[in-house]
Amino acid sequence: MGYKCTRCKQKVEIDYEYTGIRCPYCGHRILVKERPTTIKQIKAE
Ligand SMILES: [Zn+2]
Repeated sequence: MGYKCTRCKQKVEIDYEYTGIRCPYCGHRILVKERPTTIKQIKAE
């Protein structure tokens, strides 16, 4: 799962097995999910 730090903009690989999500570069704790370039369209059926 790819995340991006909102402070230093570094890409961070985070495993949910870790108890705390935290940027290893700057220690910032707010990371956003990196979305793949293609947007998935979900059909409601
Ligand atoms: Zn950071």
